[in-house]
Amino acid sequence: MQNRGRIDPAVSDSTDAEPLSDKSKPGPSAKVPEGKSPDSKPHDGRSHDWAGSRRLLRLLRDLMKERGSSQMKLDKIVKLIAQDIVAEVCSIYVLRSGDVLELFATMGLKPEAVHQTRLHVEEGIVGQVAALALPLALSDAQKHPNFAYRPETGEENYQSLLGVPIQRAGRVIGVLAVQNVTPRNYTDEEVEALETVAMLLAELFAGGEIALLDETAAGDDGQGKPMRLDGLALNDGLAIGQAVPHTRGIVISQVIADDPEEERERLVTAVAEMRGAIDDLLARADIAELGEHREILEVYRMFAEDKGWIGRIDEAILSGLTAEAAVEKIQVDTRTRMAKVKDPYLKERLSDLEDLGNRLLHHLLELDGTGPQDLPDDMVLIARNLGPAELLDYDATRLRAVVLEEGSPTAHVVIMARALNIPIIGRCRDIVTSARPGDRIVVDADNEQVLLRPNEEVQATFASTIAERDRRKEIFAATRDLPPVTLDGLRIALNINAGLLIDIPHLHDSGADGIGLYRTEIAFMVRDTFPGVTAQTELYSRVVEQADGKPVVFRTLDVGGDKVLPYWQGEVDENPAMGWRAIRIGLDRPAVLRQQIRALLRASQGGELRIMFPMISDVAEFETARALLDREIEREGVKGRTLPSMVKAGVMLEVPSLYWQLPALLDKVDFVSVGSNDLFQFHFAADRGNPRLVRRYDVLAPGFLKLLHGIASQASAKQVALSLCGDMAAHPLEAMALLGCGFESLSMPAPSVAPVKTMIRSLNLAPLKTLLPSWLELPDHSLRDRLRSYAKEQGVEL
Ligand code: PEP
Ligand code: MG
Repeated sequence: MQNRGRIDPAVSDSTDAEPLSDKSKPGPSAKVPEGKSPDSKPHDGRSHDWAGSRRLLRLLRDLMKERGSSQMKLDKIVKLIAQDIVAEVCSIYVLRSGDVLELFATMGLKPEAVHQTRLHVEEGIVGQVAALALPLALSDAQKHPNFAYRPETGEENYQSLLGVPIQRAGRVIGVLAVQNVTPRNYTDEEVEALETVAMLLAELFAGGEIALLDETAAGDDGQGKPMRLDGLALNDGLAIGQAVPHTRGIVISQVIADDPEEERERLVTAVAEMRGAIDDLLARADIAELGEHREILEVYRMFAEDKGWIGRIDEAILSGLTAEAAVEKIQVDTRTRMAKVKDPYLKERLSDLEDLGNRLLHHLLELDGTGPQDLPDDMVLIARNLGPAELLDYDATRLRAVVLEEGSPTAHVVIMARALNIPIIGRCRDIVTSARPGDRIVVDADNEQVLLRPNEEVQATFASTIAERDRRKEIFAATRDLPPVTLDGLRIALNINAGLLIDIPHLHDSGADGIGLYRTEIAFMVRDTFPGVTAQTELYSRVVEQADGKPVVFRTLDVGGDKVLPYWQGEVDENPAMGWRAIRIGLDRPAVLRQQIRALLRASQGGELRIMFPMISDVAEFETARALLDREIEREGVKGRTLPSMVKAGVMLEVPSLYWQLPALLDKVDFVSVGSNDLFQFHFAADRGNPRLVRRYDVLAPGFLKLLHGIASQASAKQVALSLCGDMAAHPLEAMALLGCGFESLSMPAPSVAPVKTMIRSLNLAPLKTLLPSWLELPDHSLRDRLRSYAKEQGVEL
């Protein structure tokens, strides 16, 4: 595909558009003279042919008003577009039931192919445009690997092809394509012009001006059959409720404007209203309580001021669109850019822009917003993606779960959903097109699946599981003050994992012993600038203060890989999990690590400081980090500052190489905490974020448990404090296996403390410790079944 130039990773480029208030915008400029090849002139991103595109839109609108059949109108439309864009072929394909694209009208292909040629989505280049929901411009379409030859169309005569999706409310409902005999590099303006026409067509189809959607289904199977969709669990949990599509069908009834100046005024007013509404949101009492989460919203508010973004909407108005159609057009552009951008931070920013676009549409169309009045009490929100503020627009007490087509573990909306304890599944392909408003839906984030329109029986089964969980929650609450001691008297230390101030109350609610892993990078990730020593000291002091005397293990920055800091853009690693991350960055940029250490020392004045270095791969790395720590301790002492009463330094064991240096390491560290998430992925060479690999290997595999057993035996022999803080500790069965391997301290998300404690209190540990070593030699893929049966036989509560 030709480089469209605009799909650059920059989220907003204020230089490529004028501010809205600037009325001295360049006037119409005929960039591509009629009949000339547009290839001859490079695109400078500014010289749009406003008059040309407005003229085409007007002609199309007039044509709509004519009397006649839908087919006649479509035939005229394709002719008009072909003439305007100087193409030999122009065709419209419409998505019909069963994901089939049907040729509905053509100028240039054989007329007998109309209503005969049918392509599956993903078949051929047109199918590819529909599947990706992205434009494709090919100067030599026949060389494209997806080219599918359909003899009935006679398209072998045409070499180049430009196809754009026809989309409505984020769903592809067809494809508009032009073709040329000679090789042609379609320009950005042509792509954009065709996208604008596609928008108009979408509105016409939906508005009924062209009655052809009677049996089209836009991805819906039309029968409302039960469906099961896979996704990625972004926040665990189980919920059942009614599907509520996020945009809830914003309908733009007028695409073409009569008076661009009037539309610009409407845009100015709507932007001002939107900014006011965001300010009101930020001032809301419950938002103020969100702690650092509020910063996410403040960054978001800055985007509402972004001149580049608003300028682009303004440009679209000048091309002849109404303000709302212009916003929608820029939304489509944003989505196109999002699909291309790999960098998770930029993706997140683009999703903020999409969120803002939706808000702006609400203001332009004077919609009520997402007020709770007409929403069900058990809503499951469905969206392609959501911004953090959009989630907060919904009444959290009615929100049972969220399902997204996109989303990643570090997305702002996910961080918010976790703070609000709402289950969320992401990367759920086709959910937007498959779910209809009001559909019953089960969101089983624990098993990474969504069940759409499940039958009564399935619903009843899930409903009883939810009821059982609620009952167990009550029982668990009662265990809060009971000690985690096994039946044979071993006291196990139970700690929580945390990363934001909002997590700390759970330390006290759960009755945990302390914070076994404080992920410092999360607070860095939600900020817009790197926090200096003072800001960090303040933050860590609050953590220490709120922990109220319970120990906290601070992990130094574990950034890099997919944990991107907005203000700290390095090169994109080919293999991020194994790339320049965590302590590797800390040691290469010692100033950053030293600042963090300094802040931690200051925050722990007079108290105890436990500091842990992530991703240590050999002893020398620990020694270098430890030397930095010692230097900072000395420096603080020289300056006469009060030091912590005790400083303990440890490592996370998450890289297998470190295991082979354990004897040497254990002589030097104060404690070791196993990061089982990373250790597991490196042990099995299986990316922890790859949904296809999620269940391929098991943490209860004998080989992995043998590694953990080996770590525990060596730590115990040298009497070095050992813990495990990966997700493995969060599940009672896995936690039981860990105790069997010799672990006596675990750290987990707060909601897991009670179930794990219940397991511990029902376990007679000594017999399991005797039995387990023999199982570690078995050739089994996993010991899960054996462990489960053992627990059942022994009456261990899982
Ligand atoms: C781990 O790897 O197990 C761990 C706790 O670290 P993180 O999940 O933050 O990488
Ligand atoms: Mg890790």
